[in-house]
Amino acid sequence: MDDGEFAPRRRLLAERMAELGLDAMLVSALPNIRYLSGFTGSNGLLLIYGGEAVLATDPRYATQVRQETACRVVVKRGAMVRAIGPVIRKLGLRAVGFEASRMDVATFHALSKEVASHAALKPAAGLVERIRAVKSPEEVERIRRAVRLCSAAFNDVVRRVRPGIRELELAAELDYRMRKRGAEGPAFETIVASGARSALPHARTSPKPIGRRELLLIDVGAQLNGYSSDMTRMLHLGRPAAETRRLYRVVLEAQRAALDSVRAGVVASQVDRSARRVLQAQGLGPRFAHSTGHGLGLEIHEPPRLGRRETARLEAGMVVTVEPGAYIEGFGGIRIEDTVLVTSKGCEILTPTSKELMVV
Ligand code: ZN
Ligand code: ZN
Repeated sequence: MDDGEFAPRRRLLAERMAELGLDAMLVSALPNIRYLSGFTGSNGLLLIYGGEAVLATDPRYATQVRQETACRVVVKRGAMVRAIGPVIRKLGLRAVGFEASRMDVATFHALSKEVASHAALKPAAGLVERIRAVKSPEEVERIRRAVRLCSAAFNDVVRRVRPGIRELELAAELDYRMRKRGAEGPAFETIVASGARSALPHARTSPKPIGRRELLLIDVGAQLNGYSSDMTRMLHLGRPAAETRRLYRVVLEAQRAALDSVRAGVVASQVDRSARRVLQAQGLGPRFAHSTGHGLGLEIHEPPRLGRRETARLEAGMVVTVEPGAYIEGFGGIRIEDTVLVTSKGCEILTPTSKELMVV
């Protein structure tokens, strides 16, 4: 079993743990388990200590887990903490970090019961996520492929947009084309929102038929080899009104301003501010009610967040979305989103799809 990319990740985690005075780290979030061990099953618990790793899972994964990971494996029925608790006790681990923002309360209680008399449980939220935020060249390549696949599926589908097609039908076509091109599936629930519904930033795709002179927002991403992509593009059915064109130009300008400000060393909130400033100058500040972007990788939303209050600095190798928008109730909304790689000089826009307002 090749431990290739996983062992160095665990070593890096061990360094961070040492800085925090942790003897061990109990990793419960599945994407973090996958990142550190290679295991892709839906039930597991990973204990990292002194350069070693023990992974617990249940008998459904007995074969798979040994194919996917070089870590020591414990296969047990029932709650995973019951498999890991004895390991913690036997090794005499004293300060055990756990993922406070991702472990559910029942698991935490069960864990406390298992180890309370032996070890202190220390909240260590975001520890693995912070390591994950900076991607290796191999990970960037996987994201790049997910991005390209999504754009290719988008091109397949976009030419079939006609008035009368339902939002759900179009979303289904996108999902189908992504799978057909080799994706595991959509990276998140595909959003197709038409007319006034496009003003809902997180609209749920509905059975509504797309109208004759309407805005159409498509927010779509593919998952490929575990990695996500994320893109939003706007279409218009029939000739757009002058006001729609103006709105589109402003959002595009805001997106370009944000992209221009992305660079290693820049504070994440600075990127958000660059987009917001353009929208504010046009009186659209209050119409932009979400943050400018988010990291993505094994998950569709992961650090860093490009929000107003983010103090973390961008680093080369981070992959983030840049997606300002403006949403006007009763009229419609516009969002333009690319997936980009942060570099020392700026950023590389991975999304190849044109950013013209597509009139169909
Ligand atoms: Zn998106
Ligand atoms: Zn996004």
